[in-house]
Amino acid sequence: MLNRTPIIGGNWKMHTDLDSGMTLASKVVDYVNSITQVDDQLGVNVVLFPPFPYLQAVESVTGASHVQCGAQNMWFEEEGAYTGEVSPAMLKDVGATMVLIGHSERRHIIGETNEQVGCKIKLALISGLQVTLCVGETIEHRTEGKTLDVVLNQVSTGLDGVSAEAMTNVVIAYEPVWAIGTGHTASPEDAQEVHGAIRTHLASQFDSDVSNSVCIQYGGSVKPDNAKDLFACPDIDGALVGGASLTADSFNAIIEASL
Ligand code: PEP
Repeated sequence: MLNRTPIIGGNWKMHTDLDSGMTLASKVVDYVNSITQVDDQLGVNVVLFPPFPYLQAVESVTGASHVQCGAQNMWFEEEGAYTGEVSPAMLKDVGATMVLIGHSERRHIIGETNEQVGCKIKLALISGLQVTLCVGETIEHRTEGKTLDVVLNQVSTGLDGVSAEAMTNVVIAYEPVWAIGTGHTASPEDAQEVHGAIRTHLASQFDSDVSNSVCIQYGGSVKPDNAKDLFACPDIDGALVGGASLTADSFNAIIEASL
């Protein structure tokens, strides 16, 4: 992994309540504080993605620590008559610094398209948010040998129109749909193959600096006992974690595995 700092994200999805979310966040903050070196450096970036209603409260817990607070989604207009949606400015107002875009549950349950994902990414970046672009194939795609076609198309459409400079604020999360919440993790070899292909693709869509510097996280049933093998792969720069981010012990153990 060249000089990229790994990033571990905790996607709480539609879980926790106010009290348990704040308790979970404070246990992560306590752990991260305990491993932050004397020179105030931490060798990993940590981001929590609580449900919208708890963002501000969780941000009050993460505060000035090395733990960032992010949002699970946003809309692709700055404001207007979009009942139930949330703008990037609103997210920034309550302290979010990052936003997940194109999570597979939004693509496959809500029906979000590659084009909508692209619009969201451009608006998030213009608005000053960092972005995690989530991509990944279904089990049907994988069985039909279409994994790389699908994933690279999601990357190129999602990042179409984004400048090389703006890519310093983009993280990519490769999350095979069949691995999310199923307990079936991609093998390190299968994950590395896709991560390597994404990195090669970034060199042609942007340039070699972007290709070398963008963090590509793996997501899909990451647990403390499989994290280390995944993180040992040269193109895997941390993890986006769902289920195992809901208890501080397992999430903190995954952070530890990345160090
Ligand atoms: C996710 O929601 O992004 C995810 C990877 O979930 P899980 O870790 O539960 O598979």
